[in-house]
Amino acid sequence: MTEAQKLAGKVAIITGAASGIGRATAILFLQHGARAFLVDLPDQSLVSQFHDYDHARTLELDITDADAPRRIVDGAMEVFGGIDILMNNAGIAVGADLEATTDEIWDRVMAVNVTSMFRISREVVPHMRQRGRGRIINVGSIMSDVGGPGLCAYGTSKHAVAGLSKAMAVDLGQYQITVNTLQPGAIVTGLSAPFFKDPEFRAYWEDKAPVGRLGQPEDVAKAALFLASADADFVSGLGFNVDGGAIINF
Ligand code: NAD
Repeated sequence: MTEAQKLAGKVAIITGAASGIGRATAILFLQHGARAFLVDLPDQSLVSQFHDYDHARTLELDITDADAPRRIVDGAMEVFGGIDILMNNAGIAVGADLEATTDEIWDRVMAVNVTSMFRISREVVPHMRQRGRGRIINVGSIMSDVGGPGLCAYGTSKHAVAGLSKAMAVDLGQYQITVNTLQPGAIVTGLSAPFFKDPEFRAYWEDKAPVGRLGQPEDVAKAALFLASADADFVSGLGFNVDGGAIINF
């Protein structure tokens, strides 16, 4: 293991790996010696994007499918024989305030952003317990701590992610499984692209971050690498903002 390889031989499951933060994290983890089991929806070119990586395997499915947790975990176990890291990253955002939030929007956002995270984690944990250690990184948002305009279901879901992570961190620490919430700020990805089309919205977030720019998926991937690596052995239950300082700038 070279000094540069922080995840040599570790097996990582990453959901939502075909785009944005999940994709950047998958590439960084692979560069650091991990074997990666990557999950995304069927229409996202996941397979072709990771075809050339020897240590990547892909599974195309909707994480809200009833049998998705079992297929993901069985798939990773079959190919790699163990699981060290789970990054619950897949997520969706729908711009709608309370009155515009239909039951369908609410149910879908909760199903993707929260319920799947709970169900996949529950399926993974017995395998981490068997290994005597594990790392779970749940992707929340700066909206895990604060409210934002027109993000009723999304903001609620991201607060739930923080609560779920804390509950898991308390219960799973005894098995040397750490659980943290990675909380990105304004990051340029497929998910945020429709919002950043509004020049005022874009300028607001550029100005709000004291570092004076929007984030890139690679900024968040580096924080995920820290949480997944031995450098974070004693870090659990943390809500880790990666936002250029935006959220503390009033
Ligand atoms: P993205 O749209 O670029 O990537 C999300 C990926 O998740 C996509 O590839 C999508 O196909 C996949 N996905 C969505 N629903 C799925 C499902 N049901 N089954 C399987 N895969 C599914 O967005 P991103 O910005 O990289 O988002 C990653 C995470 O970061 C999300 O949880 C998001 O809420 C969070 N986040 C993003 C920002 C931002 O500014 N981009 C800010 C805070 C939090």
